[in-house]
Amino acid sequence: MVSRVIPVDSFDLVIFGGTGDLARRKILPGLFRRFRAGQMPADAQVIGAARSDMDDAAFREMVREAIVEFGGNGTPDPGDLDAFLERVAYQSVDAKGEAGWSELEDKLRDDCVRAFYFSVGPSLFGDLAERLRTFGLATETSRIVVEKPFGNDLESARALNRELAQYFDETQIYRIDHYLGKETVQNLMAVRFGNVLFEPLWNAQFVDHIQITVAETVGVGGRGGYYDHSGAMRDMVQNHLMQLLCLIAMEPPAQFEPDAVRDEKLKVIRALDPVEPHHIVRGQYGADEKQPGYRAHVENERSRTESFVALKAHISNWRWAGTPFYLRTGKMLRARASEIAVVFKDAPHSIFGAEAGRHRNVLAIRLQPNEGMTLDVTIKEPGPGGMRLLDVPLDMSFADALGPDGGEVPDAYERLVMDVIRGNQTLFMRGDEVEAAWAWTDPLIDSWEARGDVPKPYDPGSSGPEDALMLMHRDGRRWRDIKA
Ligand code: NAD
Repeated sequence: MVSRVIPVDSFDLVIFGGTGDLARRKILPGLFRRFRAGQMPADAQVIGAARSDMDDAAFREMVREAIVEFGGNGTPDPGDLDAFLERVAYQSVDAKGEAGWSELEDKLRDDCVRAFYFSVGPSLFGDLAERLRTFGLATETSRIVVEKPFGNDLESARALNRELAQYFDETQIYRIDHYLGKETVQNLMAVRFGNVLFEPLWNAQFVDHIQITVAETVGVGGRGGYYDHSGAMRDMVQNHLMQLLCLIAMEPPAQFEPDAVRDEKLKVIRALDPVEPHHIVRGQYGADEKQPGYRAHVENERSRTESFVALKAHISNWRWAGTPFYLRTGKMLRARASEIAVVFKDAPHSIFGAEAGRHRNVLAIRLQPNEGMTLDVTIKEPGPGGMRLLDVPLDMSFADALGPDGGEVPDAYERLVMDVIRGNQTLFMRGDEVEAAWAWTDPLIDSWEARGDVPKPYDPGSSGPEDALMLMHRDGRRWRDIKA
């Protein structure tokens, strides 16, 4: 099945931080894939803008290397790559000064979409927004794309929202949470709202509980300085896991339209109960024979920052009262695996007797690796000798189901950048959503900081601290295995 490519209007996309890690690993290779798919108009321009002094030729060489290294799917066709690079230019600018802004302005055209991607540290977001206005680069229809982290707590997120609002309307601000750009996450909405099968069961009457796991095998890597001031709660839960929770739990919006979807997500966040302190487990990975532990990685022997968090959340509304949502995320775990599992309740009465065992339907939505979904259904174990039951998955791996072309799942950034050009904010966080999410996580973080809580140690390659397993065991439930 060949995926359909819907052309977008011509655009000038300026990537501030165009020489940085995110631009090289994700944004530029993603744009190249869209170009190769035929989605980029012939006269579209991609302009890298960063502090380094370099010319177009040097930047194009850097982009070429980035695409070869991070583009995926083998060596790119040199002809395609050259044709893409013809659309790429560079302008050195100082986000905090005056240099380069007028020259950048000269490179932009008047009759096309203008988008400015802030792929720089958050301390520069306000400076960039201000200069885009002062130097006349921003028009009434220009868009800005803002990377995470969006604030460090409610107060800083509010301040940032206020600062951006001085220069741009909310309809021009695209706050990225790349989890929302994942194909499976959008499929979650297609499955919920495109079928009649699931929605009638999607509530506390039929759902026993929901598990959301985002597990990584890597440690903090080179981000130690940033991470030690952040931790798993700020870095992952406040944004990615809460966004997933919202999509699972929200009411059906009347239309698949940006504010309709974001209104429903906001209602979920506002209906979240405060989490009881004994319903949160924080962890920090230790050392093993291959490498030192978290504290050595962040060069802070007294660090109390969590590299793992598991918690039980409740949503107080008619649909979900009584169904717990268990969230966990961590670094240095057993496998790189992210999934959402909707665990349905037992059948109200088993006609097969106790010896048939306990069986449950589970809808598991895999975000990585191998995006796809499985639905466990209970069937009879084949063979004579009575009625023995078995749970087997109905498997929908996108790569298998959609064939070689449709199976190439676009990267989240690829999708999101094209949505910016189209002017579609559905998969971007609105300012009030981000603030509401901080308003929920802030008291939790404040409470453990105030009591000097020390995270529980866990072994690299494990499923996290023992207490996280107990969080579910106490409720007579268990986490699904973390496996790739
Ligand atoms: P980076 O340090 O690799 O790159 C920073 C870029 O900003 C460079 O191009 C640099 O030249 C430019 N820059 C710095 N100061 C400047 C100034 N005064 N004027 C103009 N340009 C300046 O950072 P990164 O890893 O690419 O991250 C960029 C943003 O994306 C950050 O907000 C980060 O939190 C976010 N982010 C990164 C990743 C990732 O995987 N790297 C993932 C999610 C979010």
